[in-house]
Formats: sequence, C-alpha cells, structure tokens
Amino acid sequence: MKTIDQLNFSGKKALIRVDFNVPLDENYNITDDNRITAALPTIKKILNDGGSVILMSHLGRPKDGPTEKYSLKHVIPHLSKLLGQEVKFADDCIGEDAVKKAGELKGGEVLLLENLRFYKEEEKGDKDFAQKLARLGDVYVNDAFGTAHRAHASTAIIAQFFPDAKYFGYVMAAELANAEKILNSAAKPFTAIMGGSKVSDKILLIEKLLDKVDNLIIGGGMAYTFAKADGGTIGTSLVELDKLDLALEIVKKAKDKGVNLYLPLDNVIADAFSNDANTNTAKTGQIPDGWMGLDIGPETVKVFSKVVAESKTILWNGPMGVFEMEKFLVGTKAIADAVVEATKKGAFSLIGGGDSAAAVSKFNLTDEVSYVSTGGGALLEYMEGKELPGVKAINE
Ligand code: AMP
Repeated sequence: MKTIDQLNFSGKKALIRVDFNVPLDENYNITDDNRITAALPTIKKILNDGGSVILMSHLGRPKDGPTEKYSLKHVIPHLSKLLGQEVKFADDCIGEDAVKKAGELKGGEVLLLENLRFYKEEEKGDKDFAQKLARLGDVYVNDAFGTAHRAHASTAIIAQFFPDAKYFGYVMAAELANAEKILNSAAKPFTAIMGGSKVSDKILLIEKLLDKVDNLIIGGGMAYTFAKADGGTIGTSLVELDKLDLALEIVKKAKDKGVNLYLPLDNVIADAFSNDANTNTAKTGQIPDGWMGLDIGPETVKVFSKVVAESKTILWNGPMGVFEMEKFLVGTKAIADAVVEATKKGAFSLIGGGDSAAAVSKFNLTDEVSYVSTGGGALLEYMEGKELPGVKAINE
C-alpha cells in the first residue's frame, strides 16, 4: 500500500483530500469533530517532515454554488486550535488566489481551500476542474475514506495528474487495513450486528458476511421485514414489502451455511414516531395495529448482549432502534456496552460509520472499541467487495 510513510515531504507541497464534512450547529460550531481529529496524524506527519499542507474537502450538500452555511471557513478556528498553528484560507478552491496562496506556502504551513462542492464539477468528476486543483500541490494525498466510493474530481480523477506522487494518508490506510482484517483474518467467534432502517441498503454485505460469520444479529428497523416475512403482525413498523422473499432467503441461507441468525424476540413499541409516544413491549410478530416497533425489547437485549460479549471479532453496522430518541436508545446502548465488554476481553471490534458511529459517539464509547470507521457508504461498498474509485486511483 502506498502510504505517506514512504515519502519525506520536506520541501514538498502536499495537496490532501480530507473529509471535513462535519456537522455544524446554527452558530457554525462543530458538534462532532471526529473527522477532523482523524486527519491530524496525516497532516502532522507532513508538517513535521518540513512539507506544507493544502487541505481540500467538501462540506454538506450545497446546491447552487457558494453558500455561507457550507463554507469551510467555519472549520478554521477549531482546526487551528487542534494543530496549534495558523491555518490560511483560500475562499475559492481554484483560481488565481488559491494558486498564489498555495505558491507562497512555506514548509510547516497549512492552507485550507473553500468547499470543493461549490463547483458542480467536483461531483461530476470533471477532468479540467481536477487539473486546476492539481496545480496547487506537487504530491497528492487521499485521506478521505468517507468519499472514497465516489469518483469525484478531488477523490479520484485528480490522481492521474500525480502518476508518481500519490499516496494514502493514515486514515485511508487504517480503514483499509481494518476492513481487510475483518474480512480475511477474523478471530472466531465472529459476530456481525446489522441494524438501521433498511435491509435493502445492506443486503449485499449481509450475503457476503454469511460466508464468514458465526453469528449474524439483525435488529433495528430492518428486523420488521423479517418478522412480516415470517407471517407476523408488525403494526405500523418500518417494512420493505418488496423484500419479504429476500428476508426469507437470508434466513434459509444462514441455516444452510450454519450461521446462527439472531432476530429480535421482543420489541419496544410506540403509538407514534415520537419521544412523547406511549410505549409498551410486544413479542416479535405480535405488534398490535396502530403501534410500531422502535427498539429491541429486554429479552432480546439479553440474548444479543450475551452473543456479542462472547465474540472475538465484531462488525457492527446500524443501530438497534431509533437511538436518536431517549425512549428508544436502550437496545443500541446495551449492544454498545456488550461490544465494549468484548473489546476489553481482547476482541477486535469495528464500528461501521454513519449512524452506528454516531451512536457510539453519543454514548461516549468511541475510545472503548477497537476502531470506529469514518466511512458509512464507503465501508459498506468496500466490504461488499467493490473497488472504491478513491482507492483504485492511488493503486493504479
Ligand atoms: P441506516 O442509515 O440504514 O443505518 O439507519 C439508521 C437509522 O435507522 C437511524 O436513524 C435509526 O433511527 C433508524 N432506525 C433504527 N431502528 C428503527 C426502527 N425500529 N424504526 C424506524 N427507524 C429505525
């Protein structure tokens, strides 16, 4: 793997694609800085070598060009504080000003470029735009795992302008190594915990994992598609009616392959999708009309927790319930605790990005698990076996 460890950056200008797509509150304060702190080791290695750093990223989903709300300038105070030094800013990611500021950078200095997605060319993977960005640095580093599954100008297309000077940063290297560890050298028992809203989003990974895991735990909204397929009543719970056959197929495949499949036995149900709703518990497949399952129930928590706590390898992707609401976070929190317990006993635990990472962060357990991925979709696609454009662009 071509990582930044293979180069001394002294005298070089490194153009680093980072993932600074962080959540901001209405006063532009960063509410979760994990993605920024994740990139610090890469930035510091290059600065310590005596190189200069030009950071490029997207933030949010701006639709019509420059928008105050999505300006990366909001990130500067916190980034400067974390790095302990001034961060310069170019309020256009391409053009004369960016070229001038990048050109004047000295070793040890940092320049942040304005949001790449202020240009539609970024997501289109436009080659001319990529070339304009490429003019700013003499080494290209990709450390944005969260967007590695996109063939955007700054994540993939740009690499062709650095045929002999393109490297993975430490985030990318760690993400790929950890995903490989799970896929190829998992200690047993290996348990995958799948949750979240839709089975359709995760079906390819589930199918792949059936060849690898000892235990497959399914919770969250997707579990109701299984309950319905089994002939149960699910009230107004989330369901994908066109995936009932698929659910039955997964159950059969798990059985054929000797995988222990764990589905919820009981559920916390509510009469509305709200933290103020009335709640109760119901056995799986016996949810009354007008009620919906929003978390796994207490019996299920016991069974799932035991399986997880006794595992040696754990992959977790997707919450067990609507953990964003206090009333429905118990199941997700219990599973997080069981993952922590297993990790303390020596298990390797990988938390898939997106909502599972948000849940673990909400419970302040990020440091208690082996690795929290910074990529949601990217991790899913990598584990499904797809070649990520951002990875391919560096490797080829
Ligand atoms: P995903 O992005 O597919 O991993 O789904 C994550 C989302 O699923 C979170 O926002 C959860 O609130 C939601 N979720 C989990 N369990 C349920 C459920 N039982 N009903 C509705 N939504 C759920």
